[in-house]
Amino acid sequence: MTVLLITDERFDQHDMPGHPEHAGRLQAIRQQLVADGLLARTLTEKGQPVNLDLVHSVHVPEYVAQLERTRHANSTQWLDADTYATPRSFETALLAAGAATIAVDGVLRGRADQAIALVRPPGHHATRARAMGFCLINNVAVAARFAQQTHRVERIAIVDYDVHHGNGTQDIFYEDPSVLYISTHQSPLYPGTGSLYEMGRAAGEGYTLNIPLPPGVGDEGYEQVFERVVLPALQRFAPELILASVGFDAHWADPLANMTLSLQGYHRLCQRLIEGARAWCKGHIVFVMEGGYHLEVLSHGWANIVRAMLGDAVFSDPLGSAPTPSRDVSRLVEQVRHTHGLL
Ligand SMILES: [Zn+2]
Repeated sequence: MTVLLITDERFDQHDMPGHPEHAGRLQAIRQQLVADGLLARTLTEKGQPVNLDLVHSVHVPEYVAQLERTRHANSTQWLDADTYATPRSFETALLAAGAATIAVDGVLRGRADQAIALVRPPGHHATRARAMGFCLINNVAVAARFAQQTHRVERIAIVDYDVHHGNGTQDIFYEDPSVLYISTHQSPLYPGTGSLYEMGRAAGEGYTLNIPLPPGVGDEGYEQVFERVVLPALQRFAPELILASVGFDAHWADPLANMTLSLQGYHRLCQRLIEGARAWCKGHIVFVMEGGYHLEVLSHGWANIVRAMLGDAVFSDPLGSAPTPSRDVSRLVEQVRHTHGLL
């Protein structure tokens, strides 16, 4: 099993000490992968800046121009209340989106069975026209467009299990039936979007599947959501490629949200996606890093994804289970299944 892992120390150029989305996140993951002997077992490559044409296939020109101007500023700019851009951030965001495309390319060309893009800044809140929620360029959206344009992939599924709704990814593909966007997220929580009834528009109607969850959903609840909604929806769509927008901020110890997944629970979700990809799309799956702000969770979580891809039976969970039992989501699951015709 060849696992392609794209990451780059240059992602550390985008940094603001004290901000939750800081360079130490990826540094912690890299250290864990080395300490666990996992980096050496992957095919590791660096990022390359993405072609600007691809960025323009996802974002409007005025927004790309706004991002580019931050390169010439003398100091850090705030693009919204919590999204910073240093003079190095634009080139770093181009590298992050480029890394996601290299990961996709590696899988679709058969250089690797599966791939991981460990990138910063994250992407899933970046809409067509604006930066939001620590995100500048929507990496997973760029990767999807790359797969369509370069590899003629017709159907792509994006599974976003960051604890926040990926409003940017939803926005970009809202009218597009070629990309199925599925999101599990805490509701209410930032950014406030992602209701069950946001289902896509025009030709894209039915191709956005939101699963807003109350706080306190843990391993059992998430597993039920995956088994009863996410996996059946994937199977019905029959994607040729699955992109996973992965955030470890649904872990019980994460400081930014109130979900109660454990690392073991996360590991199970990852395994199910990999099994699904093997069953439905020749194993073609790429995991792209989004959020996650507890460094120990983040670093062990990504190490576990590498292990799952390599087929290791073990996983690492030094923090253990959530202190509270998982909230029952049976009724919500049935409501989502009914709304999306999964019965
Ligand atoms: Zn998040």
